[in-house]
Amino acid sequence: MAVAATALSLVPSVQFDAALIRKMSRQGPRYTSYPTADRFTDEFAMGDYLQAVNTVRAMGSRNSLSIYIHVPFCDKLCYYCACNKIITKNRSKAEVYLTYLKREIDMQGKLAGDLNTVTQLHFGGGTPTYLSDEQMGDLLAHLRRWFRFATDDAGEYSIEIDPRTVTPERIRTLRTQGFNRISFGVQDFDAEVQKAVNRIQPEETTLAVMQAAREAGFRSISIDLIYGLPKQNVITMDQTLAKVIAANPDRISIYNYAHMPALFKSQRQIAEDELPNAETKLDMLSLCIKRLSAAGYVYIGMDHFAKPNDDLAVAQRQGRLHRNFQGYSTHADAEMISCGVSAISAVGSTYSQNEKTLDAYYERIEQGELPIARGIKLSVDDLLRRIIIQMLMCNFELSIRSLEVAYPITFANYFATELEQLRALETDGLLSLDEDWLTVSPKGRLLIRNICMVFDRYLGAKPEAKLERLRYSKTI
Ligand code: SF4
Repeated sequence: MAVAATALSLVPSVQFDAALIRKMSRQGPRYTSYPTADRFTDEFAMGDYLQAVNTVRAMGSRNSLSIYIHVPFCDKLCYYCACNKIITKNRSKAEVYLTYLKREIDMQGKLAGDLNTVTQLHFGGGTPTYLSDEQMGDLLAHLRRWFRFATDDAGEYSIEIDPRTVTPERIRTLRTQGFNRISFGVQDFDAEVQKAVNRIQPEETTLAVMQAAREAGFRSISIDLIYGLPKQNVITMDQTLAKVIAANPDRISIYNYAHMPALFKSQRQIAEDELPNAETKLDMLSLCIKRLSAAGYVYIGMDHFAKPNDDLAVAQRQGRLHRNFQGYSTHADAEMISCGVSAISAVGSTYSQNEKTLDAYYERIEQGELPIARGIKLSVDDLLRRIIIQMLMCNFELSIRSLEVAYPITFANYFATELEQLRALETDGLLSLDEDWLTVSPKGRLLIRNICMVFDRYLGAKPEAKLERLRYSKTI
């Protein structure tokens, strides 16, 4: 089933090939970073991060800043959840957390606040709106004390929303507080599916807050869905898609639910006999692509669809799309400073991750230290492979000539082993290769993770069973 993606001829199309997906599907990373987070080690410490900031400063700090704030709390557990969250109704926990978070922001602000303007801010979790209006306002004011933010039209200021936690009025307040992009967790509109995953979210609630976001002037409204949840089938998915399309969001993400109860305790509450089988999942995915493409959405890549005039689709057409820990972004090459428990920063050629438990996070801050627990300094080889994976994920093509100009390599020699694997993928129809270009085919686009995995130096040593233990989901 080939699907023409949009009316704009330059926009990539995507082709669903069930037999190929069945053949190629395997465990693999989502490449929000390369090397992936399982390569971070505790040999990387605060001193390495300070050095990375200094290097960025010494090089003229040309890149703008991107700030990520992690709020780990949620009121109630969704059974499918694989996030780093803390379920509690005790609001005083958030009070305590905020005092430490602000202390971390003070440290980061002193260190890097003057490096450049902030063009991106993202609040994720957990549930960022676990914080009250006042707490949110106070936290944003704190950030503005240390960092210089680009104007509303130049910056991308986004927040993840659980519609069950907000009112239309709260949405308007978030806009006046400075957010201009918003993403709503929906997962599925079907009442039975919602019950099966312990996330009862009336349709009217979601539609009312979406409407409020539109009226409040949010630039981009996004909806997150999941396929593969218990009680889902092609009929329920079709009904949910019809409602989503009618709600007219600018972006839609459709994630593949990876049932890994051995790794994620909360998933053990899901009745396995209610999960759709692999064939039904494929049918649902096929349906999503067909319906969203027919409704005019462009396939951006890796679960993401956007309207052709949305900034993501425009950035992709112009070759400016970027991928980071929050997924796709229009702001390439920003230095990402992340605050909060378990948050991951990307500064210069390093990644660093904060302590993962509240106790450890608080203790490090009490000691007057940045709460960095682990990370990695990228080698030249890592940087080269990272740019390749980035290009493939964002543009579905790679200019071999440009790479040879930018790096002192001859592609055919440096990647001789990878070329053999790429040729096998070419035979399967995922891509085409010549001396100048690697081009991903429409049916290869859904399997982009498989293609990127060829360039992942760290995967070679890991057998399939190990990949599963590393919390990688299936590539499709
Ligand atoms: S899915 Fe979101 S709201 Fe639900 S428990 Fe996980 S982080 Fe919290």
